Amino acid sequence: MAKYRTVELIQAFVWTCDECGRDNFERGVSLSPESIAIDQLPDAMDAETFQAWTQAGGEGAFMTAPSRVTCPHCNSQFDTETELQTVNDEFDAPND
Ligand SMILES: [Zn+2]
Repeated sequence: MAKYRTVELIQAFVWTCDECGRDNFERGVSLSPESIAIDQLPDAMDAETFQAWTQAGGEGAFMTAPSRVTCPHCNSQFDTETELQTVNDEFDAPND
């Protein structure tokens, strides 16, 4: 039985170019507590969630999308909109 090497799957976002119609993939942007200032939180993370995350040791990754993308086929640029995702089974955001 053949043994295969292992690759790590990274979460990505797919988007369709409005100019040329092709689908593109963008890696998610992984954030750590040290990389975020409390006054510069991503839209989907409120201060309470951020503090809970920091107090939990910043375990796991808070994944967000790039705010601007460029189509590699036609070089058109776009701002992005998406919902943020918390990528960590162990981190529980406080319930309101
Ligand atoms: Zn394009």
